[in-house]
Amino acid sequence: MPANDLDQIVNLAKRRGFVYPSAEIYGGFRSSYDYGPLGSLMLRNVREAWVRDMVQKRDDVVLIDAAILGPPQVFEASGHLANFSDPLVDCRQCKQRFREDHLENKDVCPGCGATGTLTEARAFNLMFKTYAGPVEGSGAEVYLRPETAQGMFVNFANVLQTSRKKPPFGIAQVGKSFRNEITPGNFIFRTREFEQMELEFFVPPKDGPSWYDYWCRTRLQWYVDLGIPVDMLRLRAHDSDELSHYSAGTADVEFMYPWGWGELEGIAQRTDFDLGQHATHSGQKLDYFDQGTNERYVPYVIEPAAGVNRAMAAFLLAAYSEDEIDGESRTVLRLHPRLAPYKVAVLPLSKKETLTPLAREVFSSLSDRYMVDYDDTQSIGRRYRRQDEIGTPFCVTVDFDSLDDGAVTIRDRDTTEQERVAIGDLEQHLRSRLGF
Ligand code: ATP
Repeated sequence: MPANDLDQIVNLAKRRGFVYPSAEIYGGFRSSYDYGPLGSLMLRNVREAWVRDMVQKRDDVVLIDAAILGPPQVFEASGHLANFSDPLVDCRQCKQRFREDHLENKDVCPGCGATGTLTEARAFNLMFKTYAGPVEGSGAEVYLRPETAQGMFVNFANVLQTSRKKPPFGIAQVGKSFRNEITPGNFIFRTREFEQMELEFFVPPKDGPSWYDYWCRTRLQWYVDLGIPVDMLRLRAHDSDELSHYSAGTADVEFMYPWGWGELEGIAQRTDFDLGQHATHSGQKLDYFDQGTNERYVPYVIEPAAGVNRAMAAFLLAAYSEDEIDGESRTVLRLHPRLAPYKVAVLPLSKKETLTPLAREVFSSLSDRYMVDYDDTQSIGRRYRRQDEIGTPFCVTVDFDSLDDGAVTIRDRDTTEQERVAIGDLEQHLRSRLGF
């Protein structure tokens, strides 16, 4: 049974060190979060799972890491300075501000319930602007990128020349993006600073629709393969009035959050809009000459765009479960082993010095390959509970018999079943059970 209440995850995240409110000792910085010892590991695992499947296991995608700060020209060409805005309404009575497209009833204020107090909508640009260099003012403006995508478009020609790829091929990137969201909230679902995992996949124009179908299917399946039950996911095509200015078709992979269906990832057919815009604005050629067919064309782009933090929230919500073991209730995160912060915990049965050297030896032998926790405090039962709650797939217990028989006990998070394994076989044993 996944979490049905966001607070279950928010509390666990705080209690166990996944996610803390940012600047908490100063009262918190609204809707910003810091990722603690476990959260930072899990974020890294989400990123790595994405890079592994989207780049490493394919020969048609390369990875880049572009700058976060960008000059206005980039965002003029992309349309962000003119179009990247939310329609905002203010309530004249309670003075609160809302996104018009989130209102259930355009006459009623969702804050105070008053009727007829909402203003006409105004466009509010979501870009964060700052100044580069010693002088603030015009000519020094730069923007924090609101998506990673523009880095791929402005580097299209560089990558084409240096990577020897040709369409269909993709450029991927993982990194921070910034949006001055009007209504951040729902924990790490919507924040002003967040991390994206985006792929721009360049194809011959006639192949756009089939690649779009391919990426819609592939991206939904990615979440299933990493443990989200298929009935908590759906693909929803945008209505024509929802489409962005560049899009010839967009579908969202949606997740069943505790508050209802919400976007997890967007897959858009961006046509030749972006390369066309940057070619016009920069005066550079951003097209491809196909020597096989003797044709020159501007590739069409299919863009699967996901959020690292939003995916982490979904993985946590789906993995959360409470069950009963021997009459005792426990909380367990049934995370996919690739996503779990620690793959293994090494637990010496007692803190006695006789056990420590062997337990340390086991830790060292495994930590070369895996992120391993080492915990020798409290009773073994409480330590198992703690590892269940942070999603560690296997606990390895070193006990007094281990000193004689050279074996340890492996406990499975999901079944709680235990098995005795020789220390010499331990790594191989874990490798086959983890699958990596
Ligand atoms: P929404 O409609 O929820 O604001 P969007 O359609 O503007 O999202 P995209 O521009 O398609 O989002 O961005 C791609 C992905 O980046 C989203 O699916 C989401 O996972 C992530 N993302 C976008 N904005 C945020 C945010 N403010 N906080 C966290 N993640 C975000």
